[in-house]
Amino acid sequence: MTCLLVFLFIIGACIGSFLGVCVDRIPRGKSVIFGHSHCACGAPIPPCLNVPILAWLLLRGRSKCCGARIPFKFFLLELLTGFLLPIMFLSQRDATRTAIFFSLTCCLLVVSFIDIDTMELPDFLTIGLAGIGLVVSIIFPKIHGTTNVFASAHRSVFGLLCGTGILFWIGMLGEWIFKKEAIGLGDIKLIGAIGTFCGTKGCLYAIFGGSATGTLFILPFLLWRLLFPKKKSHTISILPFAPFLSLGTILFILCGKFSLLL
Ligand SMILES: [Zn+2]
Repeated sequence: MTCLLVFLFIIGACIGSFLGVCVDRIPRGKSVIFGHSHCACGAPIPPCLNVPILAWLLLRGRSKCCGARIPFKFFLLELLTGFLLPIMFLSQRDATRTAIFFSLTCCLLVVSFIDIDTMELPDFLTIGLAGIGLVVSIIFPKIHGTTNVFASAHRSVFGLLCGTGILFWIGMLGEWIFKKEAIGLGDIKLIGAIGTFCGTKGCLYAIFGGSATGTLFILPFLLWRLLFPKKKSHTISILPFAPFLSLGTILFILCGKFSLLL
């Protein structure tokens, strides 16, 4: 069992390395499959310096060619996927469910890091993910805990509609209270996509689990603002929501079935 978990950790970290390429290239409109990895200075990165996790640690976060800083997010992505794959396997105890939910997690991580970088969620990722979620729910009903194709499709569509609906109205309420856009359209599309995989319960987890974590995260910034009102900070008004929705979803995948609340 230990060997299997270590193997899954290595596979997960390698996938994380590819996700780093996606996070880096998708916003720039570049292919994620073709073309070698390059340093910021333009020098190609040899495969031996592309080893997930270890390369970043050995180089201490600086590229070998010119000493440019290698963003910490790439290391974090590799570490996260490295740990998440074996943990997800232990929580699901099923290869198909692990593969599907880990793939969803990978997409959510890419979307989250792109949201942090650019404050935008590409439609082909959010709407595309929703389409894939509907198809996967029909082919593999067990992701919704059933063997009935119709029940699974129903839960998937219902998750899509409820998720988008709930977040839309929360956004409307937020807009009414704060007098500005509270939740972006991209986030609403993303919660719909999450709903197709995780159903209504998963959406509730993503929104409220995500918001709870979001609040904990914002609290120090709010206090900072109260204590130092002169310092102009836009941190709160431009906080990306996708990472919190993603965190809520990952928590649901890992421990949703143990929850007594929902
Ligand atoms: Zn360089």
